[in-house]
Order: sequence, then structure tokens, then C-alpha cells
Amino acid sequence: MVSLQVEKLEKFFPPNVYALRDVSVSIRDGEFLVVLGPSGSGKTTFIRCIAGLETPTKGRILFGDVPVVDVERGVNVPPAKRNVGMVFQNWALYPHMKVFDNIAFPLKIKKLPRREVEKRVREVAEALGISDLLSRYPRQLSGGQQQRVAIARALVKEPQVLLMDEPFSNLDARLRISAREFVKSLQRRLGITTILVTHDQHDAYALADRLMIINNGVVQQIGTTDEVLNNPANVFVAQFFGDPPINLVEGEGRGDHVDLGDLKIPVQAPQGRLQVGIRPTDIYVADRPLNPGDIELAPGRIVLVEYLGFTPVAVVRWERTEIRAAMYNKLREGDTARVFLRKEGVKLFRDG
Ligand code: ADP
Ligand code: MG
Repeated sequence: MVSLQVEKLEKFFPPNVYALRDVSVSIRDGEFLVVLGPSGSGKTTFIRCIAGLETPTKGRILFGDVPVVDVERGVNVPPAKRNVGMVFQNWALYPHMKVFDNIAFPLKIKKLPRREVEKRVREVAEALGISDLLSRYPRQLSGGQQQRVAIARALVKEPQVLLMDEPFSNLDARLRISAREFVKSLQRRLGITTILVTHDQHDAYALADRLMIINNGVVQQIGTTDEVLNNPANVFVAQFFGDPPINLVEGEGRGDHVDLGDLKIPVQAPQGRLQVGIRPTDIYVADRPLNPGDIELAPGRIVLVEYLGFTPVAVVRWERTEIRAAMYNKLREGDTARVFLRKEGVKLFRDG
């Protein structure tokens, strides 16, 4: 297939929107990159620039070592010549065409001979498990089936790069899980360089070889899911990626510890005001420490027991501080709890 290089990409929409600012990332041949960001962060603009549906205002994009767009040099390869397959957010199937013709459409545009078209459509339909749907219309398909047709249409040209814009957002929660598994195994089987953009962190968690987090058109961090979870680059990333959500509390660094209100956390910290992030999985209520290195904090009072997903979480209060902590015993609201901390789980940020 092909590697991808995005260099200092900017997209300015007059009069005043920078949809992308100085975005650089390299994607390895066969890699699955997930671009994660809130609504309006520039995700769709980013993949539209790669597909050639949008022209950046600065920067370059290379497929392998071939520039497909280079603003400074005036290079701009049209979408049809870029050899990318794109799955749009709403799938964008043609309602008046049968599944066969929807999938065949990109090949007919390329004016491939009819027999070749027939062969390729049947092959890709076979690979996606939709061979028995070829004579139906899109309205006669379930959401999951429509999505497979959209993917088949993106793949039928045998593109070098697969681009997907929030492909699961129209699926219900259960179907979303099987659709993710399907996309991941298909991507692995084909070894196709893939970029999927989404606002749903669970997509990123399930699919990404690497993850690029973007906000307001600016890249916040690029890394594997583990790297981003364990070493979030800033407060935005710490809050945006991680489930259940991280505790973020204002603290005061004191050299050998941090004061979180009246709660003392014995970790090395620079002097001064800090934002302290601790995931609820790194601070917990239990009868004894779960791991050898874990340390015990001052006992706190449980003010609420709640469930985040299937994980029971206690809201623990000290005099002036409140933290959500995973719960491994059967205490109740009002009880005083022993609280333990995994030291490496404490993230310190210089400012908000
Ligand atoms: P996302 O896909 O992350 O929701 P988009 O890439 O669609 O974000 O949009 C990023 C920003 O660019 C938004 O502020 C959006 O309003 C703006 N934008 C997108 N397309 C256009 C356009 N054609 N004209 C003007 N502004 C646009
Ligand atoms: Mg979008």
C-alpha cells in the first residue's frame, strides 16, 4: 500500500475560521490512525484535505514520496487521481441505485469494462459478506448493511488509503461494537493504510494503532492509546480520553508532595500551582492495597456510590476535596473508607 505524510497543514475558511493549524503527522504503510476530537475540531476537514475534496491553505500531503498537494509549489492532484476510498458520515448511498450499482459506481466513472466491473463488485461484496444484497435498494437494508455497502464502494477501486468519517455514528450501540470488529479485521486483512475520524473515544480505543487528538484545529497529541492514557500531553487530552473520566483537581506542589485542599498526595512535584489528574482506576476504595507499591491516603467519607458503565465508583470527600475512586468493597454512603493510590497514576499539569 502506501505511507502518508502530512506536513504543516493549514485550512483557513474566510473570514475567520482556522479549521486546521499546522497539522503534521506521518502514517505508516498499513497503519490504522484514529483522529479523535470534539465536534468542530477539524476532523472532517482533515480527511477531506487528504481525499482532495478540500484544498488546504498551507502545507503538503505526500502519498509515499509523491506529493498529492503542495500549496507552495502549486501541486494539487484531483480526488479521482488520488486513489483513496472514502466512507462518509451518512454513508451517502445513492437511493435510486441498487446495491450492485452503488458499489460499481466508482468503477463506471473510471470506465472499466463491464466484465471487470462485475468481477470486482462480486469480489468485494463477497469479502464484506453482502453478496446476497446486490439487487436490493439501500432503503431495503439495515443500518449495518448500508454501512458495509458504503465500505464496499470505498474499497472497490482497490485504493491505497481508506478514509472514514465517523462511520459508526448512525449505528445503535450494539451494532457499533460488531461494526468496529468488522472494520478492524477487514483493515488487518487488507493491510490498507486507514484514517478514521471520530468524536467517540471508544472508537479510538477499539481501533487505533495510533491516535491523534485534535482540538480547535490543533494537534494535541499523537501516540498509541496506552501512551495517551498514561502520559496525556495536557489537561485537554487528560479529560477527553479516558473512561471513566479523570479526576482533575487544583493542587499546590510542595517538592516532596502535593496538597489537594486538605488531602496530601506523597509524590514528587514542582513548587507552585498545579492541575492534578488522577484516573478513578488509579485511586481506589478497598480494604487493603491491591498492588505492592500502592500507598494509603488519609481516610475519606463516601458521599455517593455510582456506576460508570459497570464499574462501581465512590465519590469520596475529605474536608475540602472530592474525588471519584474505583470501589472494591461493599461500603455505603456515609461510611469512612480506606483510600489507596497508584503513585504512577498521578499526572501533574503546570496550568489549566
Ligand atoms: P469536525 O468534523 O471535527 O466536526 P469540521 O472539519 O467539520 O469539524 O469543521 C471544523 C471547523 O471548520 C468548524 O468551525 C466548521 O464550522 C468550519 N468549517 C467546515 N467547513 C467549512 C466551510 N465549508 N466553510 C466555512 N467553515 C467551515
Ligand atoms: Mg465532522
